[in-house]
Amino acid sequence: MTEKTDVLVIGGGVIGVCSAYFLAQRGCAVTLVERGEVCSGSSYGNSGLIVPSHSVPLAAPGVLSQGLRWLLDPVSPFYIKPRLDLDLVRWLWWFQQASRVAPMRKGIPVLRDLSNASLELYRGLADRGELEFGFRQKGWLQIFRSESLLAKALAEARLLREFGLESTLLDTERVREMEPNVHPSIIAGIHYPDDAHLIPHRFVHQMAAAARRAGAVFRTGTEVLEMKTSRTRVTRVVTTRGDLRPEQVVLAAGSWSPRVARTVGLDVPVQPAKGYSVTVKAPATTPRVPLMLAEAKVAATPMGDKLRFGGTLELAGLDLSVNLPRVRAILRAARDHLAGMKELDLHEIWRGLRPLTPDGLPFIGRTRKWNNLMLATGHSTIGISLGPVTGSLISEMAAGEAVSQDLSRLEPERFQ
Ligand SMILES: Cc1cc2nc3c(=O)[nH]c(=O)nc-3n(C[C@H](O)[C@H](O)[C@H](O)COP(=O)(O)OP(=O)(O)OC[C@H]3O[C@@H](n4cnc5c(N)ncnc54)[C@H](O)[C@@H]3O)c2cc1C
Repeated sequence: MTEKTDVLVIGGGVIGVCSAYFLAQRGCAVTLVERGEVCSGSSYGNSGLIVPSHSVPLAAPGVLSQGLRWLLDPVSPFYIKPRLDLDLVRWLWWFQQASRVAPMRKGIPVLRDLSNASLELYRGLADRGELEFGFRQKGWLQIFRSESLLAKALAEARLLREFGLESTLLDTERVREMEPNVHPSIIAGIHYPDDAHLIPHRFVHQMAAAARRAGAVFRTGTEVLEMKTSRTRVTRVVTTRGDLRPEQVVLAAGSWSPRVARTVGLDVPVQPAKGYSVTVKAPATTPRVPLMLAEAKVAATPMGDKLRFGGTLELAGLDLSVNLPRVRAILRAARDHLAGMKELDLHEIWRGLRPLTPDGLPFIGRTRKWNNLMLATGHSTIGISLGPVTGSLISEMAAGEAVSQDLSRLEPERFQ
């Protein structure tokens, strides 16, 4: 059976759901297909941070060499699984090119503008009171135990300030005023006041419900197997539950986007980067503001009656196995940086795959090869931050309106 639809969104993570929401708000007939349940990919158990402060792209000087130095450390926060995979080799080469100072600096205003626009949309969604997803804007506090890491973070804070992103250096006393339960070994903190946080799965499910109320149709348990084309267009999308004939297609399948794109000859260089989170019942010493435990690169986010620790970045392909030593390293970091973290009441251990692009910028836009296919993927470590702005931009594009951000650096085929 073949069914007609205006816009078909592939993938029910934060990016697909936000796209469906904004498309439906504009009156498009939108269908979203998701092979599992809504929010069953990397949008579920992440750290829930909305972070303009993360506007330095992941591809930055020193990141790759640090990853290579950590190769033999079983509990390092960044790890590349050694393997003979040509896609990975090519991706690492592009990553290295993008990590030079000049391209890295060009990426900062792009991510800053997207993050700020997204934060504004989040504020609007929270203020209207229609959705309640634990949105709080209390900033984000990095805490340090070593002078060397503090110096590196201060250099990054200076760089971000050049681009208008403010932060404050706090001595031990002021860190304690903001967060009384930090460990005595903490020597300083850097506070980014504009950052915010939320409960990610609650946000995605509430947006999905709002999209449905606006007319979007959600089909879960429906996997896209391939797309079929004719001339310059995608004409048919073959799924496990029948074929669809959309006018336009939005590919928002996170780390699985390359597989779907390959069926129409498109090469989308996204590498899955596994991360873990450990969610516990909030102890009495739960932080008031979201923290970055800098030495371990672990985020600690208060989420209502829960507290979530998230971290590690493993380039190991589409592998969702759990590496327990890395999970334990996250909990050790919690004990090393915060008081009262010895006896934690576990709620959930989770892992997810961040869709990483070689230059740390997402792919958002229409493809040149197929003019009714849009990509909304590759949101790397900041997909929650950028969900609403991506959805809104996709809806502008689908409606044929002028797009409100400069998308030239986010071009889907920029690596071809
Ligand atoms: C530990 C960790 C912490 C993080 N913390 C943060 C944070 O604090 N702030 C932040 O901004 N970001 C954070 N991120 C990154 C963020 O989670 C991702 O960037 C974001 O979730 C990507 O969303 P997505 O919709 O592109 O992908 P996903 O959420 O993975 O969704 C893709 C969906 O597509 C579906 N799909 C795949 N193939 C098909 C197919 N063929 N047919 C139909 N459906 C398909 C999948 O089932 C999946 O549900 C974190 C990630 C991790 C792992």
